[in-house]
Amino acid sequence: MLVKLTDLQTLDKVTPSRYLNLSQCKLRGVLSSLGIPGLLPVSPNAYFGIAAHRLLERASKGMVSNQENLDNTWNLCVAEVDEELASSLLTSHLVPLSTHVKQYELKKRLLLNTAAFLIPSFSGEYNRQLSGNERWIETPDRKVGGYADKIVQTAAGYEIIDYKTGEVIGRNGIKAEYSIQLMLYAGILYECSGEWPAALKIIDVKGNSYTIGFDKNECIQLLSKARILLLEVNEIIAATKSLEEKQQLLATPTPENCRYCSYRPACLQYWNKKKQTPGAQWPHDITGTYTDNIALGNGTHMLRLEFNNIVYKIRGWQLERHQVVPNEKYAIYNLSKDKAENCYSETMLTTLYNC
Ligand code: SF4
Repeated sequence: MLVKLTDLQTLDKVTPSRYLNLSQCKLRGVLSSLGIPGLLPVSPNAYFGIAAHRLLERASKGMVSNQENLDNTWNLCVAEVDEELASSLLTSHLVPLSTHVKQYELKKRLLLNTAAFLIPSFSGEYNRQLSGNERWIETPDRKVGGYADKIVQTAAGYEIIDYKTGEVIGRNGIKAEYSIQLMLYAGILYECSGEWPAALKIIDVKGNSYTIGFDKNECIQLLSKARILLLEVNEIIAATKSLEEKQQLLATPTPENCRYCSYRPACLQYWNKKKQTPGAQWPHDITGTYTDNIALGNGTHMLRLEFNNIVYKIRGWQLERHQVVPNEKYAIYNLSKDKAENCYSETMLTTLYNC
């Protein structure tokens, strides 16, 4: 029924950007740390973020010399992401990305403004070994490390700066995952240089700067938790023979953890937990045997699937995007829920797997 994963390997280190993922669900954290591709498409904004990070990285590495070059480099980054999206059946319908990202032109303009300040000729502030863009820093035991977007030497000490293309502020202020990521960088900087940073900052695509307050003890504790997590994960992976058992021991299925997880098609623990607690706010994914479809007035279809004597209806189904064969079993991910019971609609991110 599920997509089969290849065997899981132990991890060399924990990166600040994956720490939270790993602490919430070890299985998801291990899969993403090992670079195993997701099995579901993500929001077009996330693909915009991939192109944006490539642009920022190239600008910071001196591969962009002037404004015109910056525009061309952006076009190249987007073309690369478009090509990658086009090469997968999961994402080919999201090409061109520029037509699927809301307010694309505005986001692009803001991003290019931010990227211009990363061109080395704009900034003469780097004069010490740790300063620079895309700096790799790691703890002396090499268990925790990652690329900091930017480290700047100021009169007060180092500033660590992280660029974010999504919303920085959540319901309770700066998103916790961003604060945790930067506090881990602060701890790593301290361990590898003996100096605490003078400031931790996030800059969004609009150029807004957010300062993260941090407590030194908390940073040390976070580093310690990251090391323990790495040890626990690696012990499970090394001591367990079967892939199924590893998955079971590593997975922590909850509606919050699984909602945006693109490994759901390979996760038995997710499906089991979802069946045990049907009233919880799980993602709108269903399984069933395809029975038939009805043509709707708008050129789409209403699909019917059956599971355990329940008939599920999916409106807005585009037969040219997903081909279905009667009496075959399917798992369908990323639907939106209609008001009527057992009724759903297809979305831009809806994905079909044969069971
Ligand atoms: S689907 Fe849920 S339990 Fe499975 S890997 Fe993803 S987050 Fe973890």
